[in-house]
Amino acid sequence: MSETLLLERVAANLTRLRLARAHDTLTDQLQAAEGSQPSYLAFLDRLLQEEATHKEQRRIEAALRLSGLPFVKTIDEFDFGFQPGLDRRQVMGLFDLAFMERRANVMLLGPPGVGKTHLAVALGVKAIHAGKSVYFTTMADLIAKLKQDEQSGRRVKGRSHYKSSLVIVDEVGYTPIDRHECHLFFRFVTGRYEKMSLIVTSNKAFTEWTELFHDPIIVTAVLDRLLHHCTVINIKGNSFRLKEKIGAMGETKKEEKAG
Ligand code: ADP
Ligand code: MG
Repeated sequence: MSETLLLERVAANLTRLRLARAHDTLTDQLQAAEGSQPSYLAFLDRLLQEEATHKEQRRIEAALRLSGLPFVKTIDEFDFGFQPGLDRRQVMGLFDLAFMERRANVMLLGPPGVGKTHLAVALGVKAIHAGKSVYFTTMADLIAKLKQDEQSGRRVKGRSHYKSSLVIVDEVGYTPIDRHECHLFFRFVTGRYEKMSLIVTSNKAFTEWTELFHDPIIVTAVLDRLLHHCTVINIKGNSFRLKEKIGAMGETKKEEKAG
């Protein structure tokens, strides 16, 4: 068989096997190989490595998009120096994702701007890289979804907020919820209890949750399940947003003085 026909057949087979990246880079890789004369094995390795890396990147991009994460930030971008009250070892310990294997939860508590969402997102990003399914929602959006599920009466088990192996519920406590919504949330938490992990962030201390959820019996039941297997991280420091604001104001003042 001529070289041209061989090349055509290899290209066609790569497409048939859905090795798109290997297909697209084939001629370049062949050309490079002619120069450097790698072994058969080294050439095959390079071609497959290119494909595997590309597929993994595509998987991560798709999972990040589907997760609903509001932004993508990692733990490397978190300045522990700004939050000296925070137990760095405890936080870093979560990033081996062993809590997910144990189907345990994480609660991040503290006032606005201390990095609760950042830490929750960073754990979500890490879980996605590890091949886990992640779904991010605010409490308000979650309640709206749970109501929709209830009204539609359909079998909704396949939906992301049920099936994802990590669900992040951000901003519990910003909007009060009524008795019925409270029951929906309780059912949601019970459904995941000891099966799949939750990360919950809240600006309210547990003692304030009773007011928020109106029904003291339900709130006790919710907390009971959430906290049974849970790492609670209480961040007591200052707002990073404010720090950035104050920093920026300082800059303007300096500029004013200079000018
Ligand atoms: P919260 O959810 O507690 O209100 P966020 O996580 O949204 O706060 O943090 C507010 C902003 O400040 C985000 O852009 C976040 O990335 C950033 N931020 C907060 N804490 C830190 C920190 N310690 N190091 C770096 N960035 C931080
Ligand atoms: Mg937040």
